[in-house]
Amino acid sequence: MKATRIEHRFVDAIPETLEDEVLYVSIEFTTAVHKCLCGCGQEVVTPISPTDWKLTFDGETVSLDPSVGNWSFDCQSHYWIRRDTVRWAGQMSEEQIAKVREKDVRSKAAYFDASCQKVTHSAPAHRPGIFGRLARWIGLRRS
Ligand SMILES: [Zn+2]
Repeated sequence: MKATRIEHRFVDAIPETLEDEVLYVSIEFTTAVHKCLCGCGQEVVTPISPTDWKLTFDGETVSLDPSVGNWSFDCQSHYWIRRDTVRWAGQMSEEQIAKVREKDVRSKAAYFDASCQKVTHSAPAHRPGIFGRLARWIGLRRS
């Protein structure tokens, strides 16, 4: 069944078994995880970064931006999480999905071009990339 509400939970580590309709948010790992809100049970990982998702916490509720599009799952569900409520998008055609994905890749490329230029002018402290942090986090979950 499609969920209409989601409860947010700030956690240090993402639990092994996820509850339905709960958005687990790890600030340390800058990642949010939830089970697909269509009820199919797939785990949806949304990294929080300037090129991925933005998480907004207003003191009571959370919002994720942009929408969550589970194109790689059979359910292909697509929804927004806004102030702890779930807004479902209409079914998208394959062509529309391809367009959204292409736009995503382009904006990511533009972002990394800009930050690469910055790197040549100053030497920022080394920070592990999102994949490093994610790997660390997955490692922690297994241990
Ligand atoms: Zn699903």
